[in-house]
Amino acid sequence: MKFAALAAVVLLLAACAPVDTDAAYAEALKKFANQIDQNSRDVARANRIMRKLASAAAEDYPETMKWNWELHVFRAPADVAAYTFPHGKIILSSGLFFWGKFNDDEMAFVIGHEVSHSLLGHHQIILETYGNRAMYPTAHVYAENTKLELQADRLAMVLSIRASYDARAAISVLQKAKDIWSDKPPAGLTATWDERIQQARGLLAAN
Ligand SMILES: [Zn+2]
Repeated sequence: MKFAALAAVVLLLAACAPVDTDAAYAEALKKFANQIDQNSRDVARANRIMRKLASAAAEDYPETMKWNWELHVFRAPADVAAYTFPHGKIILSSGLFFWGKFNDDEMAFVIGHEVSHSLLGHHQIILETYGNRAMYPTAHVYAENTKLELQADRLAMVLSIRASYDARAAISVLQKAKDIWSDKPPAGLTATWDERIQQARGLLAAN
């Protein structure tokens, strides 16, 4: 089962993974049905933030207004993980909600990053670019993953600004990640947390 296979990878990443098909989303919801959305306050809060970000994206991505955006939280208190599926479907681990003690601005960057993977069609890129090779990571796959992660960080900041969140929160989220996981690139990526922080600083300076 794809979601479960990716989950094992994502725990190490402590980051996120675009998962490639609508079917994988339906399968994940079914499989984790009894562990989904147990804290209604977290779910409502995250959905509210996601909807603001999705609205902010509508001007540049009008086709996504037809999407049925959905966000669910699955019970995994020890994990800091997020999964993006195509067409505006997101699943977050419950651990994300207390690990970084994120305020709404920080959560907007985290969720905006996932929203951005969906908007940018990264699932399709992953499928077309390396398909099954994603299961056997190579330097090429790492470099491609890194490009997608940096793109998602950038668009998350743009959406945050448009949705009236404080885009400086990107720095604090990435800094918290760095403090916990040190400055080694997360598994599967070549960019260090510092490089992602630098990119975020550059964007803030330019805006
Ligand atoms: Zn990502």
